[in-house]
Amino acid sequence: MAELELSGVSKTYGAFNALKDVSLEIADGEFAVFVGPSGCGKSTLLRLIAGLDPVSEGQIAIGGKDVTSRQAGQRPIAMVFQNYALYPHMSVYDNIAFPLQMERRPKDEIRAEVAKAAQIVQLSTRLQDKPSKLSGGQRQRVAIARAIVRKPGIFLMDEPLSNLDAALRMEMRSELTQLHRRLGSTMVYVTHDQLEAMTMADRIVVLNGGKVEQVGPPMELYHNPANLFVAGFIGSPPMNFLAGTVRSAEGATVSVEAARIGVVTLPFSGEHLSAGDSVTLGIRPEALELGAGRQVQFSVVPEAVERLGLHTIVHAGEEGRPFTALFNGDPKLRAGEAINVSVDGASVKVFDADGILRSR
Ligand code: ATP
Repeated sequence: MAELELSGVSKTYGAFNALKDVSLEIADGEFAVFVGPSGCGKSTLLRLIAGLDPVSEGQIAIGGKDVTSRQAGQRPIAMVFQNYALYPHMSVYDNIAFPLQMERRPKDEIRAEVAKAAQIVQLSTRLQDKPSKLSGGQRQRVAIARAIVRKPGIFLMDEPLSNLDAALRMEMRSELTQLHRRLGSTMVYVTHDQLEAMTMADRIVVLNGGKVEQVGPPMELYHNPANLFVAGFIGSPPMNFLAGTVRSAEGATVSVEAARIGVVTLPFSGEHLSAGDSVTLGIRPEALELGAGRQVQFSVVPEAVERLGLHTIVHAGEEGRPFTALFNGDPKLRAGEAINVSVDGASVKVFDADGILRSR
């Protein structure tokens, strides 16, 4: 059974449609990540699930029960915010205990639950400290412990790591995925950071302009992005796009003439493309190899070479269009000196004029 079910959920602010007809099922125990650019509606969707804002249309069910008209306090959820929302004058213990104290639970029970939650987030030795004595990561762990003691059906997290520095964010990413494994709870997590989505999610929900663009496991979105938006959003550095025209489309292959790479024959889904159609070809930077070892071969002139140790990123944009290649290690490349690169035909994605993926 789906732990969370959204059916035809829309949200309008005056004349503005912040969310348009969102339908979605999140399974019990799943780690779902809502990702998309600023303003795409991901926080709004989380707030509707939490009951902090009413839906304009549609239904929300949690654990099989319709909660659409229930207030936030009556929903089996706990929310963790970007700014931690801790009480500065209270100790860590009291911050964690707060939801249970509000419910007037017996003191012994509260003590046991706080101890358990503090142990899970590794703050057992800091219970008497005030939040001001803790690091950002530790404060966020207090907020998570406060959510844990409520034993919610669903944890809702709105950009919980965005106030942390890069190193701490990386550490907390793996802490949160371990926490999810330990608790086995359903988690819905909002971020604008595709790396967080890729590394943490069981399933990613990509939102854009208030609509769901694609839902799927990280690697499915990476290998088979449904459209140009998802293709450009998932993956870093982003996928390269080349404008092209279909020369012929027969059976399971399409022949395309495109900028930079000339005429290439590529596998495709067998429908929806015919001679003369405009298409966009997508090539991931990391799918490119140095040399002519693969089917599709062309040359690029690096305008900048970034050495990252493990990888080297080559920037070779033309006519204002970015183009990057990512190679393993530290090959001897220099800006201004042309290099031959190649890629498998099967790794070149074909998108039709509406931006829909038509590759196999
Ligand atoms: P960000 O990553 O910047 O937080 P987001 O994807 O979470 O972006 P939302 O906060 O969900 O975006 O906002 C979606 C859209 O709805 C935005 O265009 C925003 O301006 C608008 N919006 C959100 N809340 C309100 C409100 N209370 N009144 C009017 N418009 C709103």
